Amino acid sequence: MKKTIALLPGDGIGKEVVDVTVEILKAIAEHFNHQFQFNYGLIGGDAIDQKGTPLPEETIEACKKSDAIILGAVGGPKWDKNPVELRPERGLLALRKALDLYANLRPITTFDSLLDSSPLKKEYVSGVDFVIVRELTGGLYFGKPSERIVRDGEDSVVDTLFYKRSEIERILVSAFEIAQKRRKHVTSVDKANVLESSRVWREVAEEVSARYPDVTLEHMLVDNAAMQLIRSPRQFDVIVTENMFGDILSDEASMITGSLGMLSSASLSSSGLHLYEPVHGSAPDIAGKGLANPVATILSAAMLLRQSFGLEEEAKAIEKAVDNVLNSGTRTADLANGEKAVSTKQMGEEIKNAL
Ligand code: ATP
Ligand code: MG
Repeated sequence: MKKTIALLPGDGIGKEVVDVTVEILKAIAEHFNHQFQFNYGLIGGDAIDQKGTPLPEETIEACKKSDAIILGAVGGPKWDKNPVELRPERGLLALRKALDLYANLRPITTFDSLLDSSPLKKEYVSGVDFVIVRELTGGLYFGKPSERIVRDGEDSVVDTLFYKRSEIERILVSAFEIAQKRRKHVTSVDKANVLESSRVWREVAEEVSARYPDVTLEHMLVDNAAMQLIRSPRQFDVIVTENMFGDILSDEASMITGSLGMLSSASLSSSGLHLYEPVHGSAPDIAGKGLANPVATILSAAMLLRQSFGLEEEAKAIEKAVDNVLNSGTRTADLANGEKAVSTKQMGEEIKNAL
């Protein structure tokens, strides 16, 4: 298979974890006889320094010429005082909009060898394996108006939760498509006892569900979902929800697995050009020291191979290699509990050797 992957390492540890991930992808290409070509692009702080904008036009072009995108992370203290339009994070938001990356997928999977890393009891988190599908380009975060107003002679404020039916439908379709390839259970999270938007969300969920008779649909109120994630996280297969609920629930759920350095994600677009990135940020506190855990990005690459290229065997090979290395006790500093740790590069080497 011949494919082009856009690489946007970004800032801080973004560069380090993407470098290591490229080595893994090269090893996969060699072993399975594929040709992966890599197109590098600037985004974030580096792009501001070199091009005067956090998302240069060339970067969007490089992405559009590729079959999938891997992003590291953006941001750092160097640019914190910049005006809003010259903040690194702006680059990422603009890229999501430019490519219509509307479905954010965050798999929450515990590794048996890391159960001690979760603040929750082992017996609750062992065997957890679900995906959160978060709507990423609509809802309360983008609704207009969003402003301060005067009402009844008093300083007041309004935010708007706006969705087109088609936007709700496409995220639900994503969720059902994913569930079909998993344990065939969708939990649609809303607040239908209070919000009109949630009532429409529920209607659309029922409509979409009728097209997937082999998938079970369950509705869950968001407050209950927040509780159930802690009480019995194993019950979930696919959780689908609107932008803000997904934001909150996915941060909550990340603590089931314990380390930010382990969590991968995919952002899917309408065009079929998808972006894959670790959940963590640029971690300026450890950048340049070889301390970053590259696993989140390596697992994001596995998601890419499966989702964008249909390379299931190759994706599994990466996941199995990561699992084997963790089982052998190899740890980066974030997981080592003060014990002996390996560097970012060494972790990558170990995983490459385990492939
Ligand atoms: P952003 O706003 O870009 O999401 P953030 O403020 O959420 O960034 P991160 O950059 O994700 O912060 O870092 C949070 C903490 O987690 C930091 O102390 C960082 O060192 C640690 N951390 C993040 N990613 C990793 C990783 N891959 N390996 C080890 N530690 C990490
Ligand atoms: Mg963050």
